[in-house]
Amino acid sequence: MAEENDQALVAQSSEVAAPAPKKVKKIIRKKRPARPQVDSSFITSEPPPQTGNIFNIWYNKWSGGDRDDKASSQTAAKGRCIVAKDSGYTKADKIPGSYFCLFFARGICPKGQDCEYLHRLPGIHDMFNPNIDCFGRDKHSDYRDDMGGVGSFMRQNRTIYVGRIHVTDDIEEVVARHFAEWGQVERIRVLNTRGVAFITYSNEANAQFAKEAMAHQSLDHSEILNVRWATADPNPMAQAREARRVEEQAAEAIRRALPEAFIAEIEGRDPEARKRRKIESSFGLDGYEAPDDVYFARGSQAVNPVGRAGYELEHEQRLMNQNGEVDGNGDRGALPAIEERKEDGGIFSSSTLAVLKTANVSAAPKKAPAASSGPLVAYDSDDDDE
Ligand SMILES: [Zn+2]
Repeated sequence: MAEENDQALVAQSSEVAAPAPKKVKKIIRKKRPARPQVDSSFITSEPPPQTGNIFNIWYNKWSGGDRDDKASSQTAAKGRCIVAKDSGYTKADKIPGSYFCLFFARGICPKGQDCEYLHRLPGIHDMFNPNIDCFGRDKHSDYRDDMGGVGSFMRQNRTIYVGRIHVTDDIEEVVARHFAEWGQVERIRVLNTRGVAFITYSNEANAQFAKEAMAHQSLDHSEILNVRWATADPNPMAQAREARRVEEQAAEAIRRALPEAFIAEIEGRDPEARKRRKIESSFGLDGYEAPDDVYFARGSQAVNPVGRAGYELEHEQRLMNQNGEVDGNGDRGALPAIEERKEDGGIFSSSTLAVLKTANVSAAPKKAPAASSGPLVAYDSDDDDE
C-alpha cells in the first residue's frame, strides 16, 4: 500500500516539474521590472548632509548652495548602478517624457518597478528640453566654479572630466571599460601620468548619467574619483566639430517632427512626389494646389483626415468631447465645417474650397487672422504652435 502511494507521488511530482518552454524566459527578460537597488530603509534612514539652503523633497537633497560639501567629496559613493542587472521597467515607462532616476544612476534607488523615474540608460531617442538635464533638474546659466553640479544650458556638454584616477600601465583600458557602461562613448583622452581622463559621449544625456553614476566611485583600485563637467575645448578643430554636430542634431530633430513625405519632398528624395502631390492636392479642382501647411498637416486640421491612420479614433474622441473643452485648435473655427462636409461627400464642393482657403490662413500659426481681433488676440494665436 505504502509503496503504491509513493509511486503515485513520484508520478505526480515529475509531471509538475516538467520544464517550461524556453521561449517564455526570453519574453520575461525583455519586459523585466526594475529591481530595487538597495533596501527601502536606505534613504529614509540617512538624510543627506545639508549642502544648500533649501531642502528638495523631490530629490531628497539640498539645493540653493549648489556645492558639494568637502566631506562628501572625500567619501566613496554609497552604491553603484549595475545597468545589466538593475535596469527594467518602472511606472515611468508608461508616461512619455519621463525623466531618469537620479538614485538609479547612483545605484541607490530602493523603489524598483514602483519608481516614477526611468531605470535604464538614456538612448538616442530620449530628447529633453535643453534647459533641463535627463534627471529633470534645471540647468543654470553658468557652470559652477568647480564645474560640478547640473551644468549650464548655454552649452551642450557631452564631455566629463575625471580626476584622481589611480595611475597604472593599463589606465586607458581601465577608464574605457568603466565609462563604456553608461552609453556610447565617442572619444576618450587619458592624461596617463596625471590620472586624469576626458570622456565624450555621443549623447549629452549619457554624459549626464555617467557623471552621476561615477561620482565618488572607484575604478579597479580604491580611489575616489573626482567627476566634473569638462570645460570647452579651446582647440578650433574641436570647436568646429562641435558646431557641426549641433547643426546635425537640430536637423535631425526637425526631421523627426515633420511628416516623412514632406521631408522626402524637400530633400528631393522622392522625384515622383511633386507630380503625385499636384494631382492629390488639387482635390479634383483644376489649377488648385493645397499649400504645404495644408497638404502635409496632420492632426485635426488635415485636409483629408479620412485617409489618415488613426482618424477614426480621433474623430470618435472629438465627438465625445464636443460639448467639453476646446480641442487645442483655438481659433480655427472654419475647420469643423470642412470636416462635416467631407463626411457626406468625397470631393469638396466649391463652397468648401472657399472655406479651405480661409483655413489655410488660420492653420499657419505665424499668420494670425487680423480680422476679428485686436493686437492682443493676435499674440494669443501665435501661442498655439507650442
Ligand atoms: Zn528610482
